[in-house]
Amino acid sequence: MQLPRATRLVIRIAGVRMYLWRAVDHEGEVLEAVVTSKRNKAAALKLLKRIMKKYARPRTIVTDGLRWQEVFSGADPLLLNDKAGGSWTPVQELRQKYWHDDPKERRRLLMPFLWGTVAARGQIYGNQQRGSRAEVTNDKWFSYPGYNEMLSGVADPRIDKNEFGPNPNQTVFEWLNAQPGLAGKVEVFGTWNTFRDIFNVARSHLPVRAGATLLDPADNSARGQLLAELNRTTTALEPGDPYDSFLYEALADHLRTHQPRVLFVGFGDTDNWAHSGRYDAVLEAAHHVDEFIGRLWQQMQANPAYRGRTTFIITTDHGRGGGLSEWKEHGVEEPGSGNIWIAVIGPDTPALGERADVATVTQAQIAATVAAFVGRDYRKAKPAAAAALPVAPSL
Ligand SMILES: [Zn+2]
Repeated sequence: MQLPRATRLVIRIAGVRMYLWRAVDHEGEVLEAVVTSKRNKAAALKLLKRIMKKYARPRTIVTDGLRWQEVFSGADPLLLNDKAGGSWTPVQELRQKYWHDDPKERRRLLMPFLWGTVAARGQIYGNQQRGSRAEVTNDKWFSYPGYNEMLSGVADPRIDKNEFGPNPNQTVFEWLNAQPGLAGKVEVFGTWNTFRDIFNVARSHLPVRAGATLLDPADNSARGQLLAELNRTTTALEPGDPYDSFLYEALADHLRTHQPRVLFVGFGDTDNWAHSGRYDAVLEAAHHVDEFIGRLWQQMQANPAYRGRTTFIITTDHGRGGGLSEWKEHGVEEPGSGNIWIAVIGPDTPALGERADVATVTQAQIAATVAAFVGRDYRKAKPAAAAALPVAPSL
């Protein structure tokens, strides 16, 4: 956790010289204070940092099935067409929006927030062309096994279909919600109905607003009624799953009045459009999800309760195949769909940018990372879970 500013005062307690260290936020408010007998700044800062974890607010944001290829290289030239890419958008129009000869510029056209802000001020793993791999450890390479791995910290071979039903494994979100100080402060939003099973709402009692329960039925404002009406009358690509835009609006509304400590957000359009064989729509969906994430970040930074305290972990649940038609699908039949990408931005995370020539990271590491950002040791309770991502020295 960031210490916005640390100050030291010499005080006397019963005649003994002591040091009062205080963490002061950007508005001059004293957040925390510790008293030490020695003038040891390093030790005091360490102690303050630990206490400050209670202000940290990690958000895990997933966009389903978005390939590392698009994230790191932008639009794929072989798919910018009607034949292989199934695009309905004229090629000229697509190229105007998403094409640049330099892959670094191209990826920025596709995901300007990810590259302009997250990678610039945080870290991103998974560019195989630069010696960084991010992988899933489950051998299924589709959604439920991926979300289970990411959220529980361990792959579970029993989970072999998306229709598996309630998750037998506890997620880190369920675990955190049972920790002192965090109960009732953990929330889940997603487009996919299956999140209700993945987070096992019957057992976890987590507030999971996903699929059919995404919108707030108690929101009787004109805006709330319009959202509900649009959601009801919009023909979804995947029956029962609202589009990402509905998730964004519902979440933005919620965050204006609620301040969950730990939040999961699951977007789904990138996967649905790829399965539909519409590469133009995949690009649009990736571009929109990048905008949604950027707007959520701005919203956090505009709120004194979140500013300088929020971490975003942005990732995907699986990759996809690599060929001219294989990009549409994922799973054991499509080699490469176990490769993902993981990005992190937040006050604890040094700005190391696009990682290169580093050890492989895995999806299973995300669970312990989420816990570590709120100062909790997930592996103490779940020794089988993978270690936190090596993104910050404090983890
Ligand atoms: Zn899929």
